[in-house]
Amino acid sequence: ESSKPTNFIHQVIEQDLEQGKNGGKVVTRFPPEPNGYLHIGHAKSICLNFGTAEKYKGGCNLRFDDTNPEKESQEYIDSIIEDVKWLGFQWQGDICYTSNYFDQLYAWAVYLINEGKAYVCDLGPDEAREYRGNFTTPGKDSPYRNRSVEENLALFEKMKNGEFAEGACSLRAKIDMQSPNMNLRDPMIYRIIHTSHHQTGDKWCIYPIYDFAHGQSDAIEGVTHSICTLEFEDHRPLYEWFLENLPVPVVPKQYEFSRLELNYTITSKRKLKQLVDENIVTGWNDPRMPTISGLRRRGYTPASLRNFCDMVGVTRSNGVVDMGMLEAAVREDLDKNSPRAMCVVRPLKVTITNYDDALEEWFELPKHPKDDTMGMRKVPFTRNLLIEQDDFAEVPPRKWKRLTQGVAVRLRGAYVITCDEVIKDAEGNVVELKCSYDAATKGANPEGYKPKGVIHWVSADNSVPCEVREYDRLFTVENPDADKERDFNEFINPESLVVVTGGRCESGLADAAVESRYQFERTGYFCVDADSTAETLVFNRTVGLRDSWGK
Ligand code: ATP
Ligand code: MG
Ligand code: MG
Repeated sequence: ESSKPTNFIHQVIEQDLEQGKNGGKVVTRFPPEPNGYLHIGHAKSICLNFGTAEKYKGGCNLRFDDTNPEKESQEYIDSIIEDVKWLGFQWQGDICYTSNYFDQLYAWAVYLINEGKAYVCDLGPDEAREYRGNFTTPGKDSPYRNRSVEENLALFEKMKNGEFAEGACSLRAKIDMQSPNMNLRDPMIYRIIHTSHHQTGDKWCIYPIYDFAHGQSDAIEGVTHSICTLEFEDHRPLYEWFLENLPVPVVPKQYEFSRLELNYTITSKRKLKQLVDENIVTGWNDPRMPTISGLRRRGYTPASLRNFCDMVGVTRSNGVVDMGMLEAAVREDLDKNSPRAMCVVRPLKVTITNYDDALEEWFELPKHPKDDTMGMRKVPFTRNLLIEQDDFAEVPPRKWKRLTQGVAVRLRGAYVITCDEVIKDAEGNVVELKCSYDAATKGANPEGYKPKGVIHWVSADNSVPCEVREYDRLFTVENPDADKERDFNEFINPESLVVVTGGRCESGLADAAVESRYQFERTGYFCVDADSTAETLVFNRTVGLRDSWGK
């Protein structure tokens, strides 16, 4: 007996398939408006729409919902296409644009006018709002509601021909000004916008409203299950009204699920754009952004985002997901799949006084402790080494397992060393450690010998300079949007980016490609940033080895 899917949309689909609905086909669509870059919430919608189509051997369309030319651009279109592909999904057929259907939508608007179900209204926005009423007050009919079909046709034609200024009039569906559902109170369906459109140029100066475009586009494309977020639940009666009142080829159905919200960040294109426009971040793909391109640059993998979306699940109850869960998803993937390397972020000089560089030793270390298929890496050992400043303490705290004077520690994969002498500068800062190594400890401890701990290191002479960008959460509070008195950008985490220059990593990383991901042993997960140059690699910290937020 096959188990029932926990995803309620899949339950609906399986029922539909059992009943032979839609000719046994499943067609979904992902319909972003190209008015910004996609964020983690969109990733959930992408995984749901494309994933559902895959699961039921159907297809998913990528449709740009491009009915607001003022806010949209080709740059956004390009980034969205890139993000969907990067997440590992492929749409069926050509990319779709709502603007491909402007002729058909116009014809359907004329159809509604002819049916006496749409009229041109001259109320300005403020008046229209007043006439619409609110949840406790029924609306009033517009004084233009009873214009004749002929007059409406002529006026709508004039709207289309650019004879009116923006806002002078609009086309509205004639439904019910008394409806308890505000969306049914004669919603606007076309408005005048004298702006050229990224796809249609200057062909149109009237553009359909989302509600008038969405269901009809679904019908034109043969979408069977139109999956959107819960804020569209109240729009469903309108979605259905248009499909019932127009000669559409098929009748898709709308289903709503809850939006993904994450704490310590914001998921709204408009607000993310504000962060970009105000230069609070370096761009849409700043590694602190919850955008797909930002997460990608931060070092997230497509699989980690897909797994995360799976873990979150699909429900109709709103809830805020903990950022720790997203971080755990990438940590799990990178732990399994990223090669290990050593990088000393804040170096302290170590001289192995009894070591002879003529040995020209290279140690072979596994790229991954649990995955032999990744093979080995070679790490040069020299007399001049670097260790992490943090890994030495002159006066060690209790239970100290790192280096201190007179105590032996193992250099990961190499020898056990003992610190014999601490060299300080004039201000008393520790600038160098003179150490000695024990040749008998190469790769393993002799009988009865137990160094206190293991620390990472690199050769000072044969390693690669790098800059390390230590990223952390963008906001200091769980819900940066909660405070009505203060703007979310007042809660930016001042330590969300700490740039550390002067680091050195293993020589084997010299040619690491942009976006290569590593676990720097004992430090965290990192990936190569596009800002890397021939002289200096730049690494972004994706996430620490374990959850340390607030600790
Ligand atoms: P934003 O408010 O960030 O602009 P939006 O819903 O206006 O989001 P669209 O481009 O219209 O953005 O979204 C495309 C699809 O992604 C829609 O079906 C929408 O419901 C879905 N989506 C957007 N945000 C989320 C989210 N946080 N969680 C799940 N799905 C989302
Ligand atoms: Mg939208
Ligand atoms: Mg929006």
